[in-house]
Amino acid sequence: MDDRVRALLLETLYTQPTSLAIGAINGVVSGIIAAYVSQSTLLTHAAIALTVIAAARIAMGYAIGRNIAPQDVWKWELAYEIGAFSYSIILGLVAALTIWQNVDGQIQVMTVAVALCYGTGIAARNAGRPVIAIGQLFLSVVPVIAALLANGSLAYVALAVTVILLLPAMTSIALNVFATLRKSITEAENNARLAERMQNLARTDVVTGLANRAGLNHELAEKYLSLPDDRKLMLLWIDLDRFKEVNDTLGHPVGDKVLAEVARRLATQAPDDATLARFGGDEFIVACELESRSDAEQMARHMLEEINRPFRFDGQRLQVGGSLGVALLPDDSHDVATLMQSADLALYHAKVSGGHQVSFFDPSMTRNLVRRKEIEAELRAAIQHDELSIFFQPIVDLETGRIRTFEALVRWFHPEKGELRPDEFIPVAEETGVIITLGNWITTQAAKACAQWPDDVTVAVNLSPMQIKAPGAALGIQSALREAGLDPTRLELEVTESLFVEDDENTARFIDELSAMGVRFALDDFGTGFSSLGYINKFPFKKIKVDRSFVSGPNIGRKTEAIIRAVAEMGSTLEMDIVAEGLETVEQVQAVRDAGCNLGQGYYFSRAVPDYLAAMLLARERDARQQKQHAS
Ligand code: C2E
Ligand code: CA
Ligand code: CA
Repeated sequence: MDDRVRALLLETLYTQPTSLAIGAINGVVSGIIAAYVSQSTLLTHAAIALTVIAAARIAMGYAIGRNIAPQDVWKWELAYEIGAFSYSIILGLVAALTIWQNVDGQIQVMTVAVALCYGTGIAARNAGRPVIAIGQLFLSVVPVIAALLANGSLAYVALAVTVILLLPAMTSIALNVFATLRKSITEAENNARLAERMQNLARTDVVTGLANRAGLNHELAEKYLSLPDDRKLMLLWIDLDRFKEVNDTLGHPVGDKVLAEVARRLATQAPDDATLARFGGDEFIVACELESRSDAEQMARHMLEEINRPFRFDGQRLQVGGSLGVALLPDDSHDVATLMQSADLALYHAKVSGGHQVSFFDPSMTRNLVRRKEIEAELRAAIQHDELSIFFQPIVDLETGRIRTFEALVRWFHPEKGELRPDEFIPVAEETGVIITLGNWITTQAAKACAQWPDDVTVAVNLSPMQIKAPGAALGIQSALREAGLDPTRLELEVTESLFVEDDENTARFIDELSAMGVRFALDDFGTGFSSLGYINKFPFKKIKVDRSFVSGPNIGRKTEAIIRAVAEMGSTLEMDIVAEGLETVEQVQAVRDAGCNLGQGYYFSRAVPDYLAAMLLARERDARQQKQHAS
């Protein structure tokens, strides 16, 4: 029998101390009366023994109540057995003695009746432990039977026979009651266990085995309630920086492995009683009690190191990295809900500051970040709700007039604010880090459109520095190409000088890796920044786009013309295309062509147009060419 079931059955013996007390007091009273009336020393001793045992048993019954630990079952069972058996046999002996010593008939009736009542009653009451029940029945009744038989009178022998018949009857009743009791307790236990398992399942994340959101809520509430006054509750919110990319490019099985490994690593750093949870895809929470703020700082640092450590799966090396936000209770909040909010804001701060770092909650984070978070949420939703679209502006060969490239320019059609220009929301996207998701989406859309065009037409996509500096940025571009099925040589990436303000390993790696695949790079807005020629040498640019301030605007003149001329000359020496941006008039086109630019872009040729119009421009161009061929 299962320990828990056994404990519950034993509890049935102890649960009703009142019935135990009534039985005990009856026996004691009848014993004392018998001793008093008979004046027998033996009966007096027996009455004293009964009183002592009864008192001890009643005290024990009230003392344990319902709290029997499984490992203590045998102890309490033995204690109960000793008490029950000694009490029963003495009760039986008292009745037997009154017969044996021929005490007054009324006393005999009383003690015999008490012993029989006790024996039969107890056989039912204690059926939870049948050995005890049947043992007590026999011990209280057998001395009576012996005394009745020894007496030998007809009535007593008849009574003895009746009592003897009672033994198997009561034994079978006790066993039946026991079987029923055991069955129902076992079933109840199984049901309770099943319910517990279901509940655990509902609170567990299957991929990592950690708690899920429901589990987290439950455990946090418990941690909060049991937090001692001199301790802190730390909530550490972790967001993996590059998980989505890993998942998209390497597939869900690898993604799941990464999640499980992150969970394992967090567990090695967290105290044993910490709560670990995962939800929302790639977010983890660690909650634990700590002594001090510096403990929290130390733990957060260790966690960050663990997450940043590269993963290895089937010989493949992966670096995911994460951002961590930390808040403490009672320092930063007074309840679980604000603790979560504070940690979330701290996390957001860590992400906005470039990721791969820990940030502790600070009250100054509140207002500013909340507003930014709203815009960020709006932008994210905009992608999902198809409020964003990509327009295409042709870049034209100034010699032949043919479209060589379309530059992809994003547009946001906001349901309330109307059309928003990229200058209004790209900076927000950059500040908040949404640019990474947004940029990958734009590249994918642009590549898909390009895949529909003739092979000699390319597409140019603008990249923000932050997009490039994010670790693993090349993966995003590669997966866009793969998703669109576009040859890498047909993709051009426009970058600005600001990218090179600081020497950055990631930038160089990004450009090298993609150039090796055939992706081309264009230097955008040339002439607005440092216009340093150093990096034109250092990086494999195929194209330089001269900013439109050199073409139109108040400062136009001989000086700007000289600059365009110099750049164009360099372009032809280094075999780079030189694009003049912002061409609005035929004079401007004329001027830049004379200065040596081979490509042009601007309203003179076309504004940025939706993809179907871009396709139409190409079709018209092809028809015009065919007509020309026919004519000649
Ligand atoms: P940009 O890369 O220099 O893009 C050229 C901008 O000049 C576009 O503005 C285009 O509409 C505008 N333009 C083209 N021809 C003419 C013309 O003849 N006259 C005048 N006055 N303007 C002309 P837009 O689309 O508002 O984009 C502004 C800037 O936003 C872009 O400057 C680029 O830096 C950024 N941007 C646009 N789309 C994206 C994107 O998908 N990703 C990123 N990261 N940045 C983008
Ligand atoms: Ca551009
Ligand atoms: Ca430009």
